[in-house]
Amino acid sequence: MILAPSPNDAPLGIYIHVPFCAHICPYCDFTTYAGKESLIGRYVECVARELARPPEGAAGRPVATIFLGGGTPSLLDPAQVSRIIDACRQHHEVAADAEITMECNPNGLTAERLAGYREAGVNRLSIGAQTLDRRGLRTLGRQHESTDVIAALHNARSAGFDNVSLDFIFGWPNQSLASWRRDLDTVLALDDVPEHLSLYSLIVEPGTPFADAAARGILAMPDDDATADMYEQAINSLNDAGWHHYEVANWSREADGYSRHNAIYWRHGDFLGIGAGAHGTIGSRRTLNHLLPETYCRAIESGQDPASNVETIDERTSRAETMLLGLRLLDSGVDAEAFQGRHGLMLDDAFGPVIDDLAAIGMLKRHERGVRLTHRGLMLANDVVARFL
Ligand code: SF4
Repeated sequence: MILAPSPNDAPLGIYIHVPFCAHICPYCDFTTYAGKESLIGRYVECVARELARPPEGAAGRPVATIFLGGGTPSLLDPAQVSRIIDACRQHHEVAADAEITMECNPNGLTAERLAGYREAGVNRLSIGAQTLDRRGLRTLGRQHESTDVIAALHNARSAGFDNVSLDFIFGWPNQSLASWRRDLDTVLALDDVPEHLSLYSLIVEPGTPFADAAARGILAMPDDDATADMYEQAINSLNDAGWHHYEVANWSREADGYSRHNAIYWRHGDFLGIGAGAHGTIGSRRTLNHLLPETYCRAIESGQDPASNVETIDERTSRAETMLLGLRLLDSGVDAEAFQGRHGLMLDDAFGPVIDDLAAIGMLKRHERGVRLTHRGLMLANDVVARFL
């Protein structure tokens, strides 16, 4: 059971952003750039230098997880990944059993490359499959085939990985419920079935090629009902297969197989954000680093703070964020005792009337330890959590 929120002095996570991709997918609004691969060597050294300067409140605190996200971290070779993980261990108190996750695109994940990542210290992979439907992969502008996903899983096992997550997207243009069901059935029937699945519904983000196409009326997005049906299908298929739906968009095969790094976010815990475009939060201090890798590298190399934005989170906002994040956890939701320990205020004194309103319309349920989403609340999770803001 993941109890949210975490205490103020809980172990940290380290998030390292790798803002490079071989090409930019038309739906993507992450901080990432294509055609800048020649910067990678310099960037890795700058990340190592940033890790050597822990911000106030982070020095000496135990680190439970490291997450290399992107972008496409698998554009880094094993020696570069090793350089980053070694710098984490050299400058921070990284636990011996820390979860160390790396996001990967399926193409190019040979057994040899994966063995190199394993050797570097990575012990969990998050592979961006997105769909196993060929038409879907082309629609999403992906440059891999479904066979690359199957091969990557197989190679991951050969390289010794026993903790692998696959990411899928549903609700892409022209996707049918039957196609989505095929994706789910296929993944559940794999010989190398993964330990974890993250299933996200496609959001058309402003400023992306998909948003332009939608504005011109040439993107046939499934409507909200069709997308909700796909989500229900995932819930039912994975439930029937014995999977554990522990967070709005995340499932694990075993009850304790959750993403420990992401659990730090959902528990509203502290984490370092390292690299260009990375967000970090230590106590009430929230930072965002320079977005452009060149600007980020120049700041690091000249000894300046790589953060372009620093904000102080007030206690009222922090309490609302605890609800927004913690309610995503489907077993326990927000724990009343943990809330009081973290915020020094009873959960009902902070949010009693809002909780009562949402419980009265069947969106939230009070339980012996706190409050969590109902199935109806889960289907409208974004609207429910917005009531706490
Ligand atoms: S590979 Fe991932 S991070 Fe890179 S552009 Fe595509 S969706 Fe964005």
